Amino acid sequence: MDLKEYIASIEGFPKEGIIFRDVTGLLANADAFRYACDQLADFARRLQADVIVAPESRGFLFGAPVACQLGIGFVPVRKPGKLPRKTISCSYDLEYGSNVLEMHVDSILPGQRVVIIDDLLATGGTVEASVKMIRELKGEPVGCAFIIELEDLHGREVLSDLEVLSLLTYE
Ligand code: 5GP
Repeated sequence: MDLKEYIASIEGFPKEGIIFRDVTGLLANADAFRYACDQLADFARRLQADVIVAPESRGFLFGAPVACQLGIGFVPVRKPGKLPRKTISCSYDLEYGSNVLEMHVDSILPGQRVVIIDDLLATGGTVEASVKMIRELKGEPVGCAFIIELEDLHGREVLSDLEVLSLLTYE
């Protein structure tokens, strides 16, 4: 199945100079959504994941169904102030400014094999921050999987010690 057919490219969103890759068309098509989740689930199964971690918010759309399909747990990575219990946090640099992400301190058990799922890999900052928190919690990040990879941003290079799967690539 050619998943690219279901991705719209929006020029100038959310600001000028950006081409936004929109996954909502893929989510809206039952066959494409199922196909994409199956591919991500096969990857996580092969890596013997014990738990799926996904960053807010579009990561949830793919990470949660994959965890459910595999019969394993799902752990959210969220923006500050959203998780109600004790958290750890990690900040990472953006082109202008920085971002902070959080996880519950008890969300990963020591030694658990973790696969991270997000809709899109750009610079890799989001997943790198997630990897740092998982390691702080003594989990073992083993791979990360995306619907889309923006190859020109070289995010794969910051994730070089993990297996990386992307279903679609754009320059
Ligand atoms: P990174 O941290 O790798 O630079 O950026 C990846 C994050 O930004 C992902 O969580 C993703 O949801 C979001 N993102 C950045 N650009 C796009 C885009 O063009 N389309 C979508 N769907 N998400 C994007």
